[in-house]
Amino acid sequence: MKFHHDIHTHTEISSCCSDRMATPENFIRAAAELGHTMFGFSNHLWDESVEGESNFYHKQTFAHILPEKERIFAADNCGMKILFGAEVEYCGKSDTLALRAENASVLDYVLIPHTHTHMEGFVIPMTDKLAEFRATFPNQLREAFPWMSEKKAQAIANTFKLPDTMPALDYSWEEYDEVVAEFMMKSFEQLLENPELEKLTHTIPVIIAHPFYPCGTIGRVEQEYNLIDKERMRQAFLKAAKMGIAFDVNVNTYRLIDDLEREPLVKVMRLAKECGVKFAFGTDAHRVDVLPTINKGDAIAEAVGITNDDIFELVK
Ligand SMILES: [Zn+2]
Ligand SMILES: [Zn+2]
Repeated sequence: MKFHHDIHTHTEISSCCSDRMATPENFIRAAAELGHTMFGFSNHLWDESVEGESNFYHKQTFAHILPEKERIFAADNCGMKILFGAEVEYCGKSDTLALRAENASVLDYVLIPHTHTHMEGFVIPMTDKLAEFRATFPNQLREAFPWMSEKKAQAIANTFKLPDTMPALDYSWEEYDEVVAEFMMKSFEQLLENPELEKLTHTIPVIIAHPFYPCGTIGRVEQEYNLIDKERMRQAFLKAAKMGIAFDVNVNTYRLIDDLEREPLVKVMRLAKECGVKFAFGTDAHRVDVLPTINKGDAIAEAVGITNDDIFELVK
């Protein structure tokens, strides 16, 4: 079976998008050429009425994305249904959902990630080891380079994420896998209990972005998946299904695309299907030339066992 939609895409207005050709018009044209019948835009968004944004989100507000909405709907839709959504942060660390339901109706849908674990100290708590590294590394740097200012040395230290510092710290991947695995499960459960999420599900369609894909430790998906209690996962998925929350089949996060039987995310999705969760497919494209990778969706759907009945109503 073939799917003719893509609900996870970022245009040039997302700060992580560096392709100036990633305009709504170019995306729409390319999507139509692929034979899509539905195409969704999901730039990063932090609702400015919610406190606690990071630097990354500081400018990515409604004021920033709403002019893009006008541009999107002014463009020739090339015969497709176009949706205007957003990818809105959920910070497990502080239980903050960056969108108020009362402001959500200007969106056709929302993608909510619970695993932006590369955002240490914001989405996931910073480990003591990393905090210690960032406190001591500036001094080491200035010993080696006495001409360096304190400010510059600190700025350099702050660019280090925990995985970068592994060789310097008495810390193993196995230890960090446990931290990330527990975080992913806990943040998912906590998100489902968040009162704003409940309201949101009554306002617009809600999709979990790249569920259980650890963005900060992408080479460790399997190890971290193995550490998660599957009964806990099942209970959470049953609840998500009951709340009408769908999952984003984020095709480019499936790294074992030639060996999907071994791919942990396939196992996650099989369990989700069993629990009655519905699915929507996305590329998470930040460039127009990434759109054709949606074709991986066919093999993934087959491996998971996704049929038309499992597709989220929004994208049917
Ligand atoms: Zn994401
Ligand atoms: Zn994204």
